[in-house]
Amino acid sequence: MIFLITNIFLVPFVINIGMSTNYCYALSASPNPTNFRYIGETTNLKLRLYRHIYTAKTSKKRWPVVNWITKHLTQGEHILITPICICERDTYEIDLIAKGRLLGWNLLNIQDGSNTSGGMKNKNHSSDAKEKMSMSRKGKQKSAMHRNNISTALIGRTFSDEHLSNLSKSAKTKPTVSCEHCGMTTTKSNYTKWHGIKCKNRQE
Ligand SMILES: [Zn+2]
Repeated sequence: MIFLITNIFLVPFVINIGMSTNYCYALSASPNPTNFRYIGETTNLKLRLYRHIYTAKTSKKRWPVVNWITKHLTQGEHILITPICICERDTYEIDLIAKGRLLGWNLLNIQDGSNTSGGMKNKNHSSDAKEKMSMSRKGKQKSAMHRNNISTALIGRTFSDEHLSNLSKSAKTKPTVSCEHCGMTTTKSNYTKWHGIKCKNRQE
């Protein structure tokens, strides 16, 4: 009876009971099935493909592979999953990504093998990348709702004594500015926020 359930989540699960074959797979798109664009590892090819497509349709993260899948789906094409080899877990995928790159496969994998903790963990952005991120954010206004959310989250926040003493120590090492209206000497960020043209002692 359970085999009659056609929910795509359940069918691969049922088929997979008692099996733990681990595959390295490659993704390609229907117009060019041998142009492999992504290498991954799974014990369930059908479910993995379904999840790739589900992620592309629902995720807000725009990873290269997500963009690539979305592009082909919107063109009415299919994404194909091809098992390349049966392998031990977490071993061959890294090898295969490296070999694929050597063979000139134009792979969309961000990392050289999954199951490593993702993103920028233990890595630093280059100063070039930092500059680009900084430029892209310059002059952007946060929406009223965004500002309100930040404000609500910060109301009632308390700092530990240690945190306060660290803030104080760090403020003492920063260059200071004197306010032309009240004469107070303070850090540049405090000056911008509370003094200068915003100083309460300022005469109109
Ligand atoms: Zn002032």
